[in-house]
Amino acid sequence: MPILIKGGHVIDPGRFVGIADVLIEKGKIAAVGPNLSSPVDARTIRANGKLVMPGLVDLHVHFREPGFEYKETIQSGSAAAVAGGFTTVCCMPNTNPVNDNQAVTEFILERARLAGLANVLPIGAITKGSEGKELAEIGDLRRSGCVAISDDGKPVMNSLVMRRAMEYALAFDLTVVDHCEDLHLAECGCMNEGLVSTELGLPGIPAAAEDVMVARNLSLSELTGARLHLAHISTAGSVRMVREAKGRGIHVTAEACPHHFLLTEELVRGYNTHAKMNPPLRTWTDVQAIKEGLRDGTIDVIATDHAPHATQEKQQDFTEAPFGIVGLETALPLTLGLVEEGILSLEQAVQKLTSAPAAAFGLKKGTLAVGADADVVIVDQQEQWEVDPSKFRSKSRNTPFAGWKVKGRMNTTIVDGRVVFETGPVER
Ligand SMILES: [Zn+2]
Repeated sequence: MPILIKGGHVIDPGRFVGIADVLIEKGKIAAVGPNLSSPVDARTIRANGKLVMPGLVDLHVHFREPGFEYKETIQSGSAAAVAGGFTTVCCMPNTNPVNDNQAVTEFILERARLAGLANVLPIGAITKGSEGKELAEIGDLRRSGCVAISDDGKPVMNSLVMRRAMEYALAFDLTVVDHCEDLHLAECGCMNEGLVSTELGLPGIPAAAEDVMVARNLSLSELTGARLHLAHISTAGSVRMVREAKGRGIHVTAEACPHHFLLTEELVRGYNTHAKMNPPLRTWTDVQAIKEGLRDGTIDVIATDHAPHATQEKQQDFTEAPFGIVGLETALPLTLGLVEEGILSLEQAVQKLTSAPAAAFGLKKGTLAVGADADVVIVDQQEQWEVDPSKFRSKSRNTPFAGWKVKGRMNTTIVDGRVVFETGPVER
C-alpha cells in the first residue's frame, strides 16, 4: 500500500529541509514536495508539527546472536532498533561463533530477514576468531554480505596484521572499523584512569590506551590509503588527532556515542555498573572535546554501541561486571538534546544519525532521495518522556539513562515502505 506522509517538517540532510509531503510507493521514495496528491489506495499519515527524516543508521550494535541469545537476539535487537528509529543497523562480529566466515554472515542475514523489521547488516571479523593473528577470508565476507570489517572488543594489536587487513579492505572496497585500545596499556582496567579511579580503588584504563591506537590506525590508513572508521572515540586526544588527520586528507571517519558526550567518570561513584563501558566514561574535559568534535565535523557519526547484558551479569561487583550498555531506544532523544543545548543544528544532528553513517560504510541509506529505499521515521520533537527500561523492546535493561526525562518521541518507523513501528498518538 502506498503511504503519503502529509505536512511534516522534512529533514533530508544536505538535500532538503522544509515543510513537505513524502510519498512512498513500492517500497521506495516516490516523491518529496509540497501538496502531493494521494494515490487512491494510499494510507495518509498526517505529520503536521512532526519531523520526517530518513530512517536512522547505526554503525555499531551487538545483537548477541548466535551464542548469547539470553542477552539479545536478532529479533529483539531489531525490535529495539525500529522502536528507536533505527532502520539500518550494523552488527559487530563478536558473537559465538565469531562472524569470521560466510556461514555466520548468512545465518545473521537469514535471521534478520525472518525478523522482518530493520535492515541488519553484518560486520565481519578482521581476523579468524578475532584472535588478532590470521586474517579472515575478507573477500568471502564481502561477497556474503558484510558491509565492513572489525575486531571490535578484541582489537588487533599486531600492526602488521592491521596493515594487511587495510590492504585487503581497500581491494574489496570495505571500511575498516577499529575499537582503538592498546590492550597492554589498558591492562585489567575497568574505568577511566584518574583521580576518581584512585579514590575508588579501581584499576584504570588511561586515555593513552585509546590515543596510541588512534595514532597507529591513522598512520596505517595514511600508509595504505584504506578507509578507516574509528568506533566510539572518547578522549580529547583522539578528537585532536582525527581533526589533524582529516586536515591532511586521510580517509578517516569517527563516531561518538551518547554516553561519551553526556556522562563522565563521576557516574562510577557508588560502583554503578551501568557506568561501566569500554571505552570508559572519561573526564569533563574529554566530554567537551567530544562535543566540539561533533560540532566542527571532526566526529561524523553518532552510534550507540548497543551492548545488551543480562541483569544478573550487571549486578556483579564493578570489576566483574561486563562492559557496555544498551542504546538503541534512547539515542535519538539524547542526540536531540545536543540541539537544545545549541551544540548541533537540527540538520547536523539528523545527518550524524543518517547520511553520515551511511557514507562512512558506503551504504545506499540515510536519504530521502527519489528512488531510495523507503526507510523513513516520523518523530515528535517536542514530546517529553521518561526513560523506563522495563518498556524496552530490547531483551536487556542495562542503561545509565533510566529515569532521565528526554525530549523527542518516535511516532512511526517505516522500513522498505512498510510501517514496522508505531506509537500513539498518530493521526490518520
Ligand atoms: Zn568497542
